[in-house]
Amino acid sequence: MFENLSERLGGVFDRLTKQGALSEEDVKTALREVRVALLEADVSLPVARDFVKKVQDQATGQSVTKSVTPGQQVVKIVHDALVEVLRGEGEPGALKVDNPPAPILMVGLQGSGKTTTTGKLAKRLKDKDGKRVLMASLDIYRPAAMQQLQVLGQQIGVDVLPIVAGETAVQIAKRAKTQASLGGYDVYMLDTAGRLQIDQTLMKEVEDVRDVVNPRETLLVVDGLTGQVAVEVAEEFDAKIGISGVVLTRMDGDGRGGAALSMRAVTGKPIKYVGLGEKMDALETFEPERVAGRILGMGDIVALVEKAQETIEAEQAERMMRRFKKGQFNMNDLKMQLEQMLKMGGMESIMGMMPGMGKMAAQVKEAGFDDTILKRQIALIQSMTKMERANPQILQASRKKRIAAGAGMDVSELNKLLKMQRQMADMMKKMGKMGKGGMLKQAMK
Ligand code: GDP
Repeated sequence: MFENLSERLGGVFDRLTKQGALSEEDVKTALREVRVALLEADVSLPVARDFVKKVQDQATGQSVTKSVTPGQQVVKIVHDALVEVLRGEGEPGALKVDNPPAPILMVGLQGSGKTTTTGKLAKRLKDKDGKRVLMASLDIYRPAAMQQLQVLGQQIGVDVLPIVAGETAVQIAKRAKTQASLGGYDVYMLDTAGRLQIDQTLMKEVEDVRDVVNPRETLLVVDGLTGQVAVEVAEEFDAKIGISGVVLTRMDGDGRGGAALSMRAVTGKPIKYVGLGEKMDALETFEPERVAGRILGMGDIVALVEKAQETIEAEQAERMMRRFKKGQFNMNDLKMQLEQMLKMGGMESIMGMMPGMGKMAAQVKEAGFDDTILKRQIALIQSMTKMERANPQILQASRKKRIAAGAGMDVSELNKLLKMQRQMADMMKKMGKMGKGGMLKQAMK
């Protein structure tokens, strides 16, 4: 689900995470693309605009040099903002079904998946919550719909109110209420009639039923694939009937997930469940975190943001700090650093994270220093013996020749590496003297 939006945002953030320091202008540019992506995903214009504005304010307010890469920080902010918009009050998926028998009114347009969802929810209440459930179809206009619910009931082992020809919707609702009380049911679900479009007769009928049973939950079932239309439908139903929550169906398709976002933002109603298929168990509680993650298409965003800290494991960093402070920086340290750089997205991104080194990163790149060089340097170090790595000062001509040949390189390249190691050792000594809050510590964050 949400493929379109996630791919789109994925692309934006790909570029972001590869950039070093992020200026306010960069944030703006990225968020413009986020806005376009949201619109393409059928998020309504005001919602997209509000959302982007909010994120812009948050992103601009935060100092971007402090933690991880600026791009990752923006990702986290966008993610958190999405979750905030998507989250409803209370427990996701929780239904008020106390005071048995609790009536649940299922409303929505024809074809939205209302009957299917009624069955799915009944099954869930029965299997997960151990509730005794009675279902009733109020669709007096379509005998086939009534039949459909009977069949579903048999399939999932949930009782269905017998069909009595000629009854009105209100009469059926009353009978369901009585039957639910007499039969000792915990919950009774009323599957109301749908129309292809909202009309007055339909609304009036649902209102009458509502007044008769006084539902604990009024759940609107909408087709998640219909985007904006779904939001409009929700607004109308809420204005006329008053809904307590929304079930978005067909979220298994490659639909435009914007409906979820707009739905929350516009109606303020919680999305309680999502339908993920035609089968009776294809219903899940709506999880804002997961949906936001899916919208962004980046899996666990929090993990992503913490990636930088993870790659330099705290322990290792501490140990290195102690060594550096003493000016100890041998080939093992250098190798570890080179590997970290590779892992974290290469030279450019590392330098971009170091305070004041963004500019240098560009120069380094211009000078042709890219990840290939990192890999060649690592290869050279791998070609050294244990003793040589720990004590690079012992490297004389013959050893150098052997090492360079082992890595398939010139001695001149090895000399450059040795020079680099000596310079780093000097620098570490100086930086170490700057104390705990020094530059190195910051750079390692
Ligand atoms: P109703 O007219 O609103 O009662 O709609 P139905 O419950 O009869 O559903 C219409 C069609 O949509 C049926 O073929 C269902 O199997 C299908 N459907 C319902 N929910 C989902 C869903 O979450 N995903 C998919 N892929 N199909 C669904």
